[in-house]
Amino acid sequence: MSRRGVHLLLCLSVAGSLVDSRPVSAEKWLCDDVYLSTDAQSEYVADLVCEAAVRAKAFLQSCGLVQTSAINIEVVESAIHPGFGECMALFDKRTGCLQVTDPGRLPLLLPENDARAALPPDILFASTITHELAHALLHQSAGAIAVGPTEQEFVANAMEMAVLDPHWRDVLLGANPAKPGGSVGHINLGIYALAPRVFANNAWQYFQREEIGCALVQKIAAGEFRFPVQ
Ligand SMILES: [Zn+2]
Repeated sequence: MSRRGVHLLLCLSVAGSLVDSRPVSAEKWLCDDVYLSTDAQSEYVADLVCEAAVRAKAFLQSCGLVQTSAINIEVVESAIHPGFGECMALFDKRTGCLQVTDPGRLPLLLPENDARAALPPDILFASTITHELAHALLHQSAGAIAVGPTEQEFVANAMEMAVLDPHWRDVLLGANPAKPGGSVGHINLGIYALAPRVFANNAWQYFQREEIGCALVQKIAAGEFRFPVQ
């Protein structure tokens, strides 16, 4: 993977302070869910954000995560992390701010050879919002409990795959196969840095285990589970 790809990957995983991002000319739009809103440059993009966020939130809540404070999703020309540079999207746990790069530019930020290039831009945009909203609700659900980065990415990637339309999920699984049931040995930040789609597909397969699923997500939020350090 290119160095740039690693940076983009880490941007998805790091909850740092958001500074110097370039907003598009945006206005505030309220979603049907009063706890979700967006700063977007058009009603079309606002609708994309709200549809994705409401759908993702419904699944996250069905999995036991809760939203304890309002979340605004800011659509920006470039999400910029102070340490890692340009990103696809960011969630800042200190401010509660969630930023996502404009859907027209988002595909351009995919790491080289990333299977998500096969996704239509609107689907990629929605999937990216799901990932960050999972980080946000996991953070809010955990409250004062610190959730480790491996567990954060497991939840965000599993939720991202879970909410994806089955057709597109199969496209991603086909590009980077992971064995049914997954492998706990592949759930670590080393794999995430080197092969993020392998990590995501494996997280999904592991999440699919009957005895894992949302029960593990809830244990992670409660601070009762950590993956073994590799
Ligand atoms: Zn992430």
